[in-house]
Amino acid sequence: MADKLKIDIAGAGIFGLWQALTLARAGHRVRLFEASAEPFANAQSRLAGAMLAPWCEAEAAEPIVRDAGIACLPMWLDAFPGIVTAGTLVVAQSRDLSELKRFARLAPGHIAVDGARIDEIEPDLAGRFRSGLLFAEEAHMRTPAALAALLESAKQAGAEVWLGESWQAGGPETDFTIDCRGLGAREALPTLRGVRGERLLVRARDVSLKRPVRLLHPRFPLYIVPWGDGVHLVGATVIESEDPSPMTVRSALELLGMAYALTPAFGEAEILETSAGVRPAFPDNVPRVVVQGRTIHVNGAYRHGFLLGPAMARIVADVVAIGRSDWEHAAGLMA
Ligand SMILES: Cc1cc2nc3c(=O)[nH]c(=O)nc-3n(C[C@H](O)[C@H](O)[C@H](O)COP(=O)(O)OP(=O)(O)OC[C@H]3O[C@@H](n4cnc5c(N)ncnc54)[C@H](O)[C@@H]3O)c2cc1C
Repeated sequence: MADKLKIDIAGAGIFGLWQALTLARAGHRVRLFEASAEPFANAQSRLAGAMLAPWCEAEAAEPIVRDAGIACLPMWLDAFPGIVTAGTLVVAQSRDLSELKRFARLAPGHIAVDGARIDEIEPDLAGRFRSGLLFAEEAHMRTPAALAALLESAKQAGAEVWLGESWQAGGPETDFTIDCRGLGAREALPTLRGVRGERLLVRARDVSLKRPVRLLHPRFPLYIVPWGDGVHLVGATVIESEDPSPMTVRSALELLGMAYALTPAFGEAEILETSAGVRPAFPDNVPRVVVQGRTIHVNGAYRHGFLLGPAMARIVADVVAIGRSDWEHAAGLMA
C-alpha cells in the first residue's frame, strides 16, 4: 500500500460515506466532517429509493452508469448484509404495453414473465398484469439502515467522524480533501444543478411486495420499494427545478394514483411521510470524480448515488494512492 495519508472528507451523504469506508479500509487517516449534528438530516441521500438497478437504469442513463453499476453490486454485497437480492419487476397496464416493449429494448438483462409467473413471484399483484420483465440480478435495501451501517463500518475501519462540524476550504494541512458536499459544493462546480424529487412512505397492512416494482407509464413512471413490515417507498418525481419545498398535491396524486393502479390494496395504506428534495446533477446526469490538485470532488449523484458510490470510492482510492485510476470504468466517471 502507499504511505498512510491524511485525508479529510466533507459531507456524510452516500458519496462521503463510501469514500470514508474505502479510504479508511485502505489504511489512510480519515476524518469525515458532516455539517449537520444529526446524521443524514440534511443529506439528500436519506430520500433515495436506494435500488441497485443498473439494468433498469440503462433505459434512461448513459451506458457507463449500467457498466459501472454492475461492477458495484459485489462491493455493496461485501459492505452491507442488508442488501436484498430479489431482482426488480417491471410491469405496465394493458394500455401501456408499448412502454413495456420500449423498456425491454432499452434495458437488456431481463427475462420476460407472463401473468402466471408474476402471480407466483408477487402474490399481492395476482391477476393484475399479463406481462412484465424480471431483472433477476438487481437488488435493493432500506435506505436509513444502509446509511447507518456504512457510517458505523467507516468508524470501525478507523475513520474519525465529526458531526455538526462544517468543513471549510483552506483548513489545516491534509494530504487530500475529498469534497462530497452534494449541492453544497456549487461554488466549486459551476455546472452542478439541482433536480427536484418527491417520494412517500406508506404502510400497507395487506401488501408486502417482495422486490421493487416499476409500473411504466408514458408520463409518470413509478417505483415502489418494499422496506419490510408493510412499509413501502413510493417514488419518485423527477422535476427540473431546485425548489426544495414540500410535496405538491399534484405529485401526491400522481404517485398515490400510480400505487393504487398497481394494486388497489394500497388504497388502505397509511401515509407515513411525504418528502421532497433536490438531487445534485451534472448536465449529462452522470456522477463524476473531479480532481483539482489536492482537492477531489465527488458529485453529481443524480439518481445513482447508491448505485455508483462504491465505484466513485474505488476511483478516488486509486487517485490518492498512485495519482490515477486504471480501473476499466474510471475514464467514464472522471471529469
Ligand atoms: C425523491 C428522491 C429519490 C431519489 N432516489 C434515488 C435512488 O433511488 N437512488 C439513488 O442513488 N439516488 C436517489 N436520489 C438521489 C440521491 O439521493 C442523491 O443524488 C444523492 O444521495 C446525493 O448524495 P451525496 O452524497 O452527493 O449528497 P448528500 O446526500 O446531499 O450529502 C451531502 C452532505 O454534505 C453535507 N455538507 C454540505 N456542506 C457541508 C460542509 N461545508 N461541511 C460538512 N458537510 C457538509 C450535507 O449536510 C449532506 O449531509 C433520490 C433523490 C430524491 C430527492
